[in-house]
Amino acid sequence: MLIIPGYGSYFFLVEILTTALLPFPEKGPIENQCSSCKKCLDACPTGALEKGFSLNASKCLSYLSIEYHGRLDSRTGRIMGNCFFGCDVCQEVCPYNEKALSKEPLLPSTDEILEMDEKGFKEEFGETAFSHAGLEKLKGNIHAVRSGIAA
Ligand code: SF4
Ligand code: SF4
Repeated sequence: MLIIPGYGSYFFLVEILTTALLPFPEKGPIENQCSSCKKCLDACPTGALEKGFSLNASKCLSYLSIEYHGRLDSRTGRIMGNCFFGCDVCQEVCPYNEKALSKEPLLPSTDEILEMDEKGFKEEFGETAFSHAGLEKLKGNIHAVRSGIAA
């Protein structure tokens, strides 16, 4: 939901607590940079971007496959295609991300994840974003994707 000119939207928001006195840049309101573009709205596979500047998180695959605690059904699994963790289609089509570094993550196969136990998962992914979703959630997502393909 935030684009930094020159960087796009691929960054993490963090907070630093400090007692240091830092200069605070004077900035006016940020203008809409999207103009008439609506590539993200058109590309979203679930219609979660219902209108400009409006995200219905309950339809968003990133929310459903990471934060949502329930099990996903085969209908959602079918929409997820071959992606069992997150989505980011809206980020990939955004012209502001054209220059973003493309990094192909090295991920294990879905079979390997299904065979993992909590100890092995923690050792391998304990310090990655995967661990935020948790092993059981990832396994449930993989089952939803597979049942979506089979349906
Ligand atoms: S992450 Fe995927 S499902 Fe969520 S708003 Fe973006 S394109 Fe839509
Ligand atoms: S794809 Fe990027 S530039 Fe286009 S409407 Fe969406 S956020 Fe704005």
